[in-house]
Amino acid sequence: MPQLARRIGRAKPSAIMQIAEKAKRLKSEGRDIISFSIGVPNFLPGEHVYEAARQALAHDSGQYGSNRGSDAMLDAFLEHINKIGMTGYGRVNLATGVGAKHVLYNLAEALLDEGDTIAFPTPYWTSYLDIAEIVNAKVELLPCGPAQDYKLTPAQLEEALAKKPRVFLFNNPSNPTGMVYTKDEIGALADVIAKYPDTWVITDDIYNRMVFDGVGYHNFVHARPELRDRVIFVDSLSKTYGMPGWRVGFMAGPEVVAQAVVTMNSNHITNLPEIVQAAAVAALSGPQDVPEAKCAEFQAKRDQVMDVMNSIPGVVCPRPQGAFYVFPDVSCAFGKTHGPTGKAIANDVDFCSVLLEAKGVACVPGSAFGEPRAMRISYTCPTPQLEPGMQRIREFFGELS
Ligand code: PLP
Repeated sequence: MPQLARRIGRAKPSAIMQIAEKAKRLKSEGRDIISFSIGVPNFLPGEHVYEAARQALAHDSGQYGSNRGSDAMLDAFLEHINKIGMTGYGRVNLATGVGAKHVLYNLAEALLDEGDTIAFPTPYWTSYLDIAEIVNAKVELLPCGPAQDYKLTPAQLEEALAKKPRVFLFNNPSNPTGMVYTKDEIGALADVIAKYPDTWVITDDIYNRMVFDGVGYHNFVHARPELRDRVIFVDSLSKTYGMPGWRVGFMAGPEVVAQAVVTMNSNHITNLPEIVQAAAVAALSGPQDVPEAKCAEFQAKRDQVMDVMNSIPGVVCPRPQGAFYVFPDVSCAFGKTHGPTGKAIANDVDFCSVLLEAKGVACVPGSAFGEPRAMRISYTCPTPQLEPGMQRIREFFGELS
């Protein structure tokens, strides 16, 4: 048989999907499983979104669309980002993708030649590493452990940018930690970025509407508008609007970068489907009550998860202020044995595996995000499942010795 390309050997199947699959299998075998594993929003968009899609279907043009996207969708993106202070952009600064993941992949292709360096903080969203490996970039990881609230410091950034990576990739609010950078923290990092003009900066900020406690969302271009010529902001409808399966992501950034992504699309996908674009316009321009209500609900769920985490001796759990994840350091359990099953727990993978088998609770091992001391709890499950799921985690800790 002929060989596959070498890049395929470098890309790994998602560890998150593997846990989700195992949970699904146990469920199909009749086990009572509560899943905190997958980062799907668990709500649907409003009826106006479905109606817009139906109308688009009824009036199908039967044509290919613009590689960049319809004017209506681009204008809806611009209006949407204006509301979070991302101003000064026009249609020429935008490009779309089949979800933010595809936008990030296209950006990697557009900005990184083989062997160029991309630097990003750990914990990181799993696909960053795989995307970098597929395009054969060098990865520089910037470790940000729980002792620094999983946040990058200006000194760390300075050290990384002094080595002139081609790309610095930043994620705020963070998946997997849920941490949100304050205005001052973003300002201090922006001051460092301003000193290093050789590096593109991608801000993957798809959770920007899911920010709690009034901390607000801040971007480097808010702090230093001149960085607009190097910062590429990435957003998505997946999480904010409960539309992960519709696959709509976009970027706003320098015209030359947007054009590069449009060119990639002209060779990959041509355009997002017309029906999807119409649904996106409706979601972005229509009533915002669903996303706003969900954000309030996630904040309350964050509190519930944190109450339990704070009550478990030995667990270190920085308090998230956004997205829908909590990322406790559970390394206090390593080296212990789970009494009822007799299973030893050497690391995060054992921890999540024994927890799933013993208590029917699925969480994702932190090593999937480059932080093997932790595990990720995604709390988008139906509200009635949250309390029992968290109680099972508390009980599980009580059964370790
Ligand atoms: N970036 C981050 C930080 C994510 O958590 C995700 C999805 O989980 C994505 C990008 C991809 O989102 P999309 O569904 O728009 O491809």
